[in-house]
Amino acid sequence: MSEPTPLLVVGSVAIDSIKTPFGERERSLGGSATHFSVSASFFTEVGVVAVIGEDFTDEDEAVFHERRINTSNLQRIPGGKTFRWAGEYGFDLNTAHTLDTQLNVFADFNPNLSDTARKSPFLFLGNIQPTLQREVREQVDARFVAMDTMNLWIDTTRDELLKTIAVVDAIVINDAEARQLAEEPNLIRAARKILTWGPKLLVVKRGEYGAALFTKESYFATPAFPLESVFDPTGAGDSFAGGFMGYLAQADKIDETTLRRAIIYGSVMASYNVEEFSCDRLRKLQAEEIRARFHQFKEFTHFEI
Ligand code: AMP
Repeated sequence: MSEPTPLLVVGSVAIDSIKTPFGERERSLGGSATHFSVSASFFTEVGVVAVIGEDFTDEDEAVFHERRINTSNLQRIPGGKTFRWAGEYGFDLNTAHTLDTQLNVFADFNPNLSDTARKSPFLFLGNIQPTLQREVREQVDARFVAMDTMNLWIDTTRDELLKTIAVVDAIVINDAEARQLAEEPNLIRAARKILTWGPKLLVVKRGEYGAALFTKESYFATPAFPLESVFDPTGAGDSFAGGFMGYLAQADKIDETTLRRAIIYGSVMASYNVEEFSCDRLRKLQAEEIRARFHQFKEFTHFEI
């Protein structure tokens, strides 16, 4: 039997249709598991649990094979259609407006993980229906489990979502989702409330304003990397989560210092992801570029007392 990958992700593998104020793409490779795994693969080997249809081409699938991404739990359904999402952004690039969601092969997805995948020590439940997230969570004997979600699932499957939240160690969501989930307009109070539901830590992504880490005992926040041009914000959240979880899995420990570095690596990966459409920028990213921005973060957040 082969070795389990240090990190496993379940989420969508999608064909997106994206419109931003700077351009549009009719068929853009996307999905939470796709953006997450490409980003995390700069730090560790990642396994993807997802489902695709016949319309997902070999060229699409190359995104996984050209990096350290294990696809043995990526199912292809003959005659099926891949998950599709259409979204649009206005000048406020922090907010995606969903135009259309077609679950397609995800509607009947019944994940049954290989024995090897069940032993991955780090697990990320990417944005997908919360019952599916929990089915995967129950199969994996992971040491550290984090999850994402979105407004659609908070609106339509709240009870299921709360059951999934109760069985994870960390939640990584954006600020609007945290407020909506907690039914609390103040972000600090929202975070405190969510932390009473089971998770030990909450990471709040705040788009161009950065990210914050809340635990019951501590608080840490960083601005975002100051970019002059953001081209396509799709996948920013997932590439953030990929950098965050990828770094934790590589470090193989969870303590305050490692978590803070992971927040910065997440911010670095998101900052590169938004520079081009889809995963185009991360597909050509070099390790030195990640190191360079990581050090720049240290410089622009450091001050003397
Ligand atoms: P984000 O990182 O939040 O920008 O996520 C972007 C990705 O989420 C897109 O590539 C979409 O394919 C995917 N997505 C959008 N809506 C859903 C949904 N309801 N379930 C799963 N994935 C989704």
